[in-house]
Amino acid sequence: MAKTYTAVKGDTYRKIAAAMMGDPQLAATLADYNGILDLKQIVAGQQLSIPAARDLAPSRAARPRAAAWPAPPTSLQGILDTFGNLLAYVRDDATVDPKWEAQFIVRQPLPYAIPLDWDTSQSVTAVRCHKLLAPLLLQVFEQIAARGLRGTVKTYGGCYVYRPKRNGAKPSTHSWGIAFDLNVRTNQMGTAGDMDPRLVELIESFGFLWGGRWAGRGKDPMHFQYCSGY
Ligand SMILES: [Zn+2]
Repeated sequence: MAKTYTAVKGDTYRKIAAAMMGDPQLAATLADYNGILDLKQIVAGQQLSIPAARDLAPSRAARPRAAAWPAPPTSLQGILDTFGNLLAYVRDDATVDPKWEAQFIVRQPLPYAIPLDWDTSQSVTAVRCHKLLAPLLLQVFEQIAARGLRGTVKTYGGCYVYRPKRNGAKPSTHSWGIAFDLNVRTNQMGTAGDMDPRLVELIESFGFLWGGRWAGRGKDPMHFQYCSGY
């Protein structure tokens, strides 16, 4: 088990790296180990795993990158085990503890800007998603461009947002930052939509499930999620 540390007010990655790893220069390594891209992103109460010296040796560059992201889970229990026990962070008033976002959600820059669905005069340049999926989402959007499919992504409709599932009381997969919506206006829930089948095939090849495969009122052609059975 890796050592953990709970950040307190005023902490920085430099301070924690100095105290817990003996070297403030390891601040970026510490943040990276916790899936955090932005060294300014730290809040009191945030739990950090402290890498052991043997995890850092001989050098990060020489260390083969094991599976860069987890396999898609196939049940709610699998989602909780893989991406964190969200239910433990939901408060009595149905809002979510800010520690949830601090611990699991990161900002992943996109390789190109995509118009924002609800205000196409604006573009998004990054997605907010689960830290374990950030490298996968980057690959997805890189591959969309590499395959010449950028034109099939007309708008971006969001990834992480804490919200109950629209057709029930359970939290949406967006609440884990493991789902994203595209081309929302023309792919409303319960409709066939107009998602390009080449885009669907590409995104599904990375392990995502397309909501356009669901039947009836639950059909959600704007939606891609990195799990099934939920
Ligand atoms: Zn969605």
